Amino acid sequence: MSMNIMGVPAFLIGGEKVVGFDSVKIENLLDYTVEKCPKCQTRVRVPKGKGKIKITCKECSEEYIINTKNN
Ligand SMILES: [Zn+2]
Repeated sequence: MSMNIMGVPAFLIGGEKVVGFDSVKIENLLDYTVEKCPKCQTRVRVPKGKGKIKITCKECSEEYIINTKNN
């Protein structure tokens, strides 16, 4: 997001073309979501639809619970 990229981005995810920043559609196509460590803000990819899962931060070893909803 810090880069100034001009034009309309297009993604090809799982055979589906996504044009522009349709973040909801992109998130639905991906089988993971990105969460931030509450302590050090390190981003971590977590699977979707697993209910409440415990994450252990790889940077600061903070353990936190996130709720991975299906929608
Ligand atoms: Zn952390």
